[in-house]
Amino acid sequence: MNNLVREPILSLDDVSITYPGAPAPAVRGVTLDVAQGETLGLVGESGSGKSSLAAAIIGLLPDGSQIGGTVRFEGRDLAHMPARTLRALRGTEIATIAQDPFTALNPIMRIGRQLDEFQHWRGDLNRAERRARATDMLAQVGLSDPEVRMTQYPHQMSGGILQRIAIAAALLAEPKLLIADEPTTALDATTEAQILGIMADAKARVRGATVFITHDISVVERLCDRVAVLYAGELVESGTVAQVLEAPKHPYTQALLACDPARIGKPTRSLPTIPGTVPAPDNLPQGCVFAPRCPVAIECCETIRPKLESAGPGRRAACHLVNT
Ligand code: SF4
Repeated sequence: MNNLVREPILSLDDVSITYPGAPAPAVRGVTLDVAQGETLGLVGESGSGKSSLAAAIIGLLPDGSQIGGTVRFEGRDLAHMPARTLRALRGTEIATIAQDPFTALNPIMRIGRQLDEFQHWRGDLNRAERRARATDMLAQVGLSDPEVRMTQYPHQMSGGILQRIAIAAALLAEPKLLIADEPTTALDATTEAQILGIMADAKARVRGATVFITHDISVVERLCDRVAVLYAGELVESGTVAQVLEAPKHPYTQALLACDPARIGKPTRSLPTIPGTVPAPDNLPQGCVFAPRCPVAIECCETIRPKLESAGPGRRAACHLVNT
């Protein structure tokens, strides 16, 4: 998909995030665009900053968090928008699918009533029409007996069914921007495969763009057009999925791919992991943040932090070795 000719619907410029009371920012200097019609995968290990970025986009960082830079959605700066305005955008123009569907749904309210509330912005429809629309959406995300589901409470359903309902709720908003934060992590492998199939269909119905947050490279490969790789709160590589997964430029991306079960030829009981851990925000190396774990580090990596630079058409990477 050619993203170079399309205007970005979401544009992050030099974004930093500092949690209340934290001694150092958890995310630093992230600049990236998401084009109209595009699905961007934000990938990285736990502690990479990907969920912090998602929370910043949708205004769900803890009170007192500080966001530096700008987060523009159709030109409006979400990072410095009044909370009320941002709340109004959430659930209408911006919809989210969380890792744990229980957090998205009210445990003491029937599904039908909740899906009605997700459509509060459809003042042109009466209650019966909204109910019919919600029931139809439940069928579209693959739920049998959608009428019965409408009468049930969340605790009467499995995680997989609830995640389908959460996806249906997001789609009822007809969002311009859909943020999905590890929506399959809490599910078993069979249910995960089903939900990914539904997500592939769901993203095609989003009017604008989708940001898919995951630690799973195979999810990026299946669902995304472009990928941004985060490490220790910094963007270290970006490009189209084909570019990055077929020929990763950054040693961290290469290490992530080497640990991807789908890329490991023979079945193995113990999956490889990248040796070492992601450094804490207040204990970063002086030079490249990946240097302590990098198998190809050179002398200057310990003292000089690499800039994110062009690594070919449509791609960027932050590594001293990329353009040598
Ligand atoms: Fe490795 Fe150096 Fe590149 Fe960092 S800059 S990823 S340490 S080679």
